[in-house]
Amino acid sequence: MTVPLKKIVEALEEMAPPQLAAPWDNTGLQVGSPDAPVASILVSLDVTEEVVSEAARKKANLIVAHHPLFFHPLQRIETDTATGRLLGHLLTAGISVYAAHTNLDVAAGGVNDLLGETLGVASWSPLQEGPPQEPRGFGGIGELPQRMRFRQFLDALKAALKTDAVRLIGAPPRGVRRIAFCCGSGAALIPQVIRCRPDLFITGDIKYHEALCLRMETIPTLDIGHFPSEQGIRKSLTQRIRRALRSRLGKTLPVYASRSERDPFTTV
Ligand SMILES: [Zn+2]
Repeated sequence: MTVPLKKIVEALEEMAPPQLAAPWDNTGLQVGSPDAPVASILVSLDVTEEVVSEAARKKANLIVAHHPLFFHPLQRIETDTATGRLLGHLLTAGISVYAAHTNLDVAAGGVNDLLGETLGVASWSPLQEGPPQEPRGFGGIGELPQRMRFRQFLDALKAALKTDAVRLIGAPPRGVRRIAFCCGSGAALIPQVIRCRPDLFITGDIKYHEALCLRMETIPTLDIGHFPSEQGIRKSLTQRIRRALRSRLGKTLPVYASRSERDPFTTV
């Protein structure tokens, strides 16, 4: 059994409306045809060689990825480069690629909501407004149900995110209750975080000068890594796609969460 790709795109765009994406983003169908018959779907954070091979192994001819494959216009496809090889592999295997990036970060039940839930934050509001007329926004600021000791919070966080590679910026806070967070790279939200004065800011991809700024502003910050902050979305999106296909089309296709992709950073 197959479902036309455009029907799957309709379901995805209901979960992560494209108008929620940041203006600089590049989301949507990136490789393939809207009329392509999809037999099965692989959900991943990125489109890498491992993920494409996994899709081919699982006979999945659609990859739904969080991070777009392209940001800049391509000038050439050289198959002796990593990107060219990847594209060649996708095209010869007949695998389409759809990306839901910042729209999935912002959407209800999306990547940032999932991070907030994983951190145990009870309810939160966005750190930065989203597009006009949209109630959703980027990042979150909210509170834990009760104040926790930093060490206790940190141990629970590492277990929930399945990572040991967490870096602290500044002095550890005495206690943690009010938390600012942003999935992926949250450095762009540092001005908003400074205004909110949380007990702790949690995000990934903090660079040296941003770390200095956060320390100077006495905002204790945990850099939990980009990958650990977002990896939970694979499983949750997989389940939501399955449910959406069943309820919208009365059909089920095999939908898999990628098991092959790994954080490019390892702790040594
Ligand atoms: Zn990301």
